[in-house]
Amino acid sequence: VSESAAKLPSKILELMDGFRASKALFVACKLKIFDHLKDKGPLKAVDIANEIGTSVCGTERLLDACAALGLLEKTSQGYRNTDSANTYLTSDGEYSLHGYIIHSNDHVWPLFTNLESAVKEGSRQNHRAFGRKAEDLFKDYYHSWEVKQRFMAAMHSIAHLTARDVATAFDLSQFKSACDLGGCTGALAHELVQIYPNLKVTVFDLPEVIANISYFQPSGQCTAPVTFVSGDFFKDNLPEADLYILSRVLHDWSDEKIHVLLSKISAVCKPGCGILLAEMVLDDEKKNRSTALLQSLNMLVQTEGKERSGSEYRGLLEQHGFTNVKIRLTGNLLDVILCVKT
Ligand code: SAM
Repeated sequence: VSESAAKLPSKILELMDGFRASKALFVACKLKIFDHLKDKGPLKAVDIANEIGTSVCGTERLLDACAALGLLEKTSQGYRNTDSANTYLTSDGEYSLHGYIIHSNDHVWPLFTNLESAVKEGSRQNHRAFGRKAEDLFKDYYHSWEVKQRFMAAMHSIAHLTARDVATAFDLSQFKSACDLGGCTGALAHELVQIYPNLKVTVFDLPEVIANISYFQPSGQCTAPVTFVSGDFFKDNLPEADLYILSRVLHDWSDEKIHVLLSKISAVCKPGCGILLAEMVLDDEKKNRSTALLQSLNMLVQTEGKERSGSEYRGLLEQHGFTNVKIRLTGNLLDVILCVKT
């Protein structure tokens, strides 16, 4: 390495390239290249291009970029998936991230294109990215079946990756019943009943979501002990439970709306009952976790909320009588906070 090459600002150069690498991954997923290679690899660029109906020259460049990024292996017989591509990038694997990647391409990408306006205005950018902005982000997600299905598939795929670590961060065996507020497809609920067979879990979510859950259930149908109830957690009565779960829910909302929700939970929670939060927990100085800080920008472009530190969550919970706040950093994408009503 020459002296001047050694002095290159490699971190900055890597960040300048970051969006190109993300887009190459997104497009390869969207074109289902990893699905084709799982069943039939190794394949030459021309064969893949013929199968998916793309240009040979463009496909070859995309495949080479994916290989250089470590997503594919390039061999003399052609391209084949890495183990990690087989597990996470094909669309049908148990731990597939395909749903989240398609959501990132089709929804988050256009929103991030408007990050500059979001920073200037301090608010979400649905109107600039998609030409409409409803009263809250979920009305924007659920106005069309396709957008709703894509969002639910994204939540399902990312929740699968975190569910076990969330469910096991604390011993929850003292609780007999749990209600996963905003529990979406039930991915965490199903993990919880596997780990705690005596726990009855209710998933509570908006009617538009509950009407669409059957597609995501393990056996294609909704079986006990997970039950699904539809409602609006800001307006309707909450199901009775010993433990209320809020996973990736508080980060969608302002402190004011969080106070409305926590005071409703507090009103139905008996002493000894608890709240389990699953969120990316920031360090108090907000300077160490780039994944969580970038997620907070993601919340800026699309929600009313933000990522918060452990002290901020503790402050919100304590105002509603939830003390003994315990925080576990899991090393996974979500951390877990458990507190009990005194
Ligand atoms: N808990 C899931 C997870 O961790 O993957 C989904 C998180 S998603 C970011 C937020 C969820 O809250 C969505 O499923 C959404 O439909 C639900 N939600 C939003 N507003 C709601 C409301 N007013 N009442 C009930 N559920 C709501």
